[in-house]
Amino acid sequence: MSIKETVKKDPQGVIARAYVFAEKTHRGQKRKSGEPYFNHPLATANILSSWRLDNATIAAGLLHDTVEDTDVTQDDIHKEFGGEIAFLVEGVTKLGTIKYRGAENKAENMRKMILALSRDLRVVFIKLADRLHNMRTLSALPPAKQKRIALETNDIYAPLAYRLGMQNVSGELQDLAFPYLHPKEYRWLLETTKEQYESRLAYLQKIKPEVEALLKKNGVAPLAIDFRAKRYSSLYKKLLRHDMDIGKIYDLVAMRIIVATVPECYAAMGIVHEQWPPLPGRIKDYIAMPKPNTYRSLHTTVIGPDQKIMEFQIRTKEMHEENEYGVAAHWLYKQKSDGKTNSPKTAAEDIAWVRQLQSWQEHFSGKQTESEEFMRTMKIDFFKERIFAITPRGDAIDLPAGSTPVDFAYHIHTDIGNACAGAKVNGAIVPLDHELRSGDLVEIITQKGKRPSETWLTFVKTAIARDRIRAAMREKNRLVRGAAAPTHAELKITVDDRVGILKDFSTIIARNHINILAFHAENTKGSRFSLNKIDIQSIDKPKIDKLILKLKKVDGVKEISYKLV
Ligand code: MN
Repeated sequence: MSIKETVKKDPQGVIARAYVFAEKTHRGQKRKSGEPYFNHPLATANILSSWRLDNATIAAGLLHDTVEDTDVTQDDIHKEFGGEIAFLVEGVTKLGTIKYRGAENKAENMRKMILALSRDLRVVFIKLADRLHNMRTLSALPPAKQKRIALETNDIYAPLAYRLGMQNVSGELQDLAFPYLHPKEYRWLLETTKEQYESRLAYLQKIKPEVEALLKKNGVAPLAIDFRAKRYSSLYKKLLRHDMDIGKIYDLVAMRIIVATVPECYAAMGIVHEQWPPLPGRIKDYIAMPKPNTYRSLHTTVIGPDQKIMEFQIRTKEMHEENEYGVAAHWLYKQKSDGKTNSPKTAAEDIAWVRQLQSWQEHFSGKQTESEEFMRTMKIDFFKERIFAITPRGDAIDLPAGSTPVDFAYHIHTDIGNACAGAKVNGAIVPLDHELRSGDLVEIITQKGKRPSETWLTFVKTAIARDRIRAAMREKNRLVRGAAAPTHAELKITVDDRVGILKDFSTIIARNHINILAFHAENTKGSRFSLNKIDIQSIDKPKIDKLILKLKKVDGVKEISYKLV
């Protein structure tokens, strides 16, 4: 049901109220394309509804840009719609402050951060729906912005959707980003493959009745048979691995068979193989061994009618829904099922948070199926030991829990840490020992000539901050002694004067790689001894001692002493 239909059907419901509120708030605002701004949150909510998410999420989808783009405050949303929806809107608003600028090594961190900041998977769903609609309408933006958003979509949001099991969303995001990231390749692909796509599709359409009859004759009634055209973005990646030879891509268009049960999946594959010989090494059993993102299906490539190579994908309806909607589909199924549904067998050893998601899925598959239970499990709390705080530029700083603005400052740059005079968190001044939380927007106030304080050592959490503060303290102590600190040494040499003695001194000093700054000779009246003072450029005690030993051997030297000045 579309949002507009829902609004008509239940005008007092939360979706209708959010609709009216958002429409009114955005009234008069236009998108870059010239259309009313409200079209965007409405489209976002429609996407969320097509993913079968709950009413609070859909309402938050309608409201997701009100706090960022209008006079409406977080409090207004709270008063009007309650804590749950306000929490979801706030989450999406926070994610809006993060920007990705394309360092590949930062992408994984960024994906984790998005999950950590969201604290509830529904925030991620809203963000993905928001991004999906923005990508569908990206052509209206200026080119530089298009490129940045396409890159962020490709590197961050598409993989995130994929790991959440939302295969279809991930693929669409990548496809939408592709023409902006690789315009030349995209044009080439369109030209090269258009005919191929069409002829593959015509071929499959032709043999579809044959496949259907074959299955039925052997006792498997398919629920549906349709076609899956390979996406441009994934075709391009595959072509890169196959010498750009489109003839080697067998799954340009695949035939998809949907059946009722898992045994029927295997039965259908057997029937197909009996009729058309499979290509060796191309049978994939993602039912027994699901992909890390929980994708399940059987894939096989056969030599079909007219000796043409074609791919079959065979799965149950439940698997199909899960492959399309990921975690969201589980909710749908648990709502509908009578509890007898098999829990998904997942072999994910990918990364911690995917395992975590799967353990949630297994957790609620056996239990009662209320949305409460599901929503509780959507809470993300597996980053307890890390927090992600955001700079004013939108970069995320990954810190251990309990970190303070001083830790944050030192993680940006040593100079910022050293000159740190104060901090604002989410716009409000806080003490420097304030404990930061994930999603905090942190601004460090620096002051020229400011030095770190020793008391900082009592509250900083990170080794980096501690080390830098200590280094700065040492530096400071050295500077405090500054005025009295020696810069060179003065040698006092009492000699029995003779011709050439100064030359001997200077030769030895030079050989020890020490510069001479000045010479003074004083003749004491009535004495055959004279006092030479030599200023040398060194305060290194061992070095000076060594030099003195050598000078003492010079003929005529009676006594040598030195002091640092
Ligand atoms: Mn938006």
